[in-house]
Amino acid sequence: NVRVRFCPSPTGNPHVGLVRTALFNWAYARHNGGTYVFRIEDTDAARDSQESYEQLLDSLRWLGLTWDEGPEVGGPHAPYRQSERMDLYADVAAKLLEGGHAYRCYCTAEELEVRREEARKAGKPSGYDGKCRDLTDEQKAAYEAEGRSSIVRFRMPDETITFTDLVRGELSFAPENVTDFGLVRANGAPLYTLVNPVDDALMEITHILRGEDLLSSTPRQIALYRALGEIGVTDGSVPSFGHLPYVMGEGNKKLSKRDPQASLNLYRERGFLPEGLLNYLSLLGWSFSPDEDVFTLDQMVEKFDLADVNANPARFDLKKAEAINADHIRMLSVEDFTAACEPWLKAPHALWKPEAFDAAAWQALAPLAQTRLTVLSDITANVDFLFLDEPVSDEKSWDKAMKPGAADLLRTAREKLAATSSWTAEPLKEAVLAAGEEHGLKLGKAQAPVRVAVTGRTVGLPLFESLEVLGRERTLARVDAALA
Ligand code: GLU
Repeated sequence: NVRVRFCPSPTGNPHVGLVRTALFNWAYARHNGGTYVFRIEDTDAARDSQESYEQLLDSLRWLGLTWDEGPEVGGPHAPYRQSERMDLYADVAAKLLEGGHAYRCYCTAEELEVRREEARKAGKPSGYDGKCRDLTDEQKAAYEAEGRSSIVRFRMPDETITFTDLVRGELSFAPENVTDFGLVRANGAPLYTLVNPVDDALMEITHILRGEDLLSSTPRQIALYRALGEIGVTDGSVPSFGHLPYVMGEGNKKLSKRDPQASLNLYRERGFLPEGLLNYLSLLGWSFSPDEDVFTLDQMVEKFDLADVNANPARFDLKKAEAINADHIRMLSVEDFTAACEPWLKAPHALWKPEAFDAAAWQALAPLAQTRLTVLSDITANVDFLFLDEPVSDEKSWDKAMKPGAADLLRTAREKLAATSSWTAEPLKEAVLAAGEEHGLKLGKAQAPVRVAVTGRTVGLPLFESLEVLGRERTLARVDAALA
């Protein structure tokens, strides 16, 4: 039975790298009929926040990456917030000390730094040098009498640790490169190095898929799993590990979580569809076919195989993300598209004043918008002219369309528009075409001032359908206002 976990720390806003990890684990669980565990790693009181915790839950729910065990849904290994599991970690740390797999280390940060620096100068590995590994009771008592505090440090076995990474194949770590490491701070606070593998072991996680940045902690965690077996906390089994490739941003630098482009909220606010964003993020390190890059979440689940995960760094490409999102917008039913746009028609625009909102007009234009939008937030600029008393126009668009001679053309167009016998797109187009001919202008040039006069913008949905929906009276009034 496959059991995977997503275990973020609630610090700051969720970012796309985190979502990619959440997605790959989720897809792996769903593909294998396994269990997706959501755990919150909030043992660092100085950095964790309740707000960030709530955002994580909200983000996963918005994305549709539902979890089988975790906050709010519970499960056999509850609680799933590490801040509520502190007694358990203290207990495991005590057992590790008792069993000789860990020891108290009295070295101060300054002392460690001096020795690290010496090792570096001598060209030696600069990890912990083992000074406190085998202190006698007298030495410990002497340190304590000095008033020194101590951390709990794990005793790495003196052997090479080898494992088969699910993405990278066999990897080996020699002991001189993986030295003893801290598990519990002097004040008793347990560290990531302890709580993460302890919970993975207790929660019976079978597969760990996470970013390549965590690769160096894997040999330590494997040694810790073995120790947990020896002290009888678990049966000593070790999960499989797969390290997902780095995501590169601008200038081929690692995409930092502080990069504005990395913020999940940005995509949400711009109106990416969850499925569109997840589709794009799945391609950061995975694909099942070189010529199929647009697919649904169900299709991804069906195809997801770790054998297709690539170890090479993946490049984050915003244009491609937008193109894929646009494809997902096209894939919606008109009803779903219309509903998905609602938040952008409501707020923060003044548009959704119940009296100003004309549902029939919106229904009429929605299918045209659906074939054109890249992100849902663009809907506001495309249809606001329908719902405002006067179109919003910026000076730049106005000047761009209202070139010298535009007023004459607009006057002619007004006459011809007013004279149409039926206010539908085809005759309206004929009217503007004819006005253009009188002024020696092609349709494209002739319709620009009409568009700005009526919608306030230089680009938008097909103009004549827009005029049809806006209606004769309002259209002509706006042209008059522009001429006044
Ligand atoms: N809480 C850790 C992080 O957010 C989890 C790392 C892991 O997957 O082991 O980086």
